[in-house]
Amino acid sequence: MKLMEVTDSYWDMLPEEVQMYIVNLKLKQEYLDALKREQWKKVCKEIEQYGELKATWGLGSIRIFKCGICLPRKNCIMSGVWGYYFDDCNAKKKRFLGDTFEQALKRVNHVKSFL
Ligand SMILES: [Zn+2]
Repeated sequence: MKLMEVTDSYWDMLPEEVQMYIVNLKLKQEYLDALKREQWKKVCKEIEQYGELKATWGLGSIRIFKCGICLPRKNCIMSGVWGYYFDDCNAKKKRFLGDTFEQALKRVNHVKSFL
């Protein structure tokens, strides 16, 4: 009881190493929360870009491939964003649009002009 009177709070009663541990936990949690917010923002942006790309392409489905072999490497002929369409003979065809939605959005009208 005596101790309670001289300290401001329970926090002040904790040993310094425990306080540091809690402060570090809090900082780590804030970092993780910021990371999650950043990832969520990225996902929202991709959904938006996908919608815009699909509307601009307008010919058929948009598919995203990720190569499992050379995943960290870019410019793999297997991976990327592809636009599907049907040609005059009603055959299903596909065209490479870009490595990312951002790139695909920049190229989509150009690619369409050659179909
Ligand atoms: Zn690959």
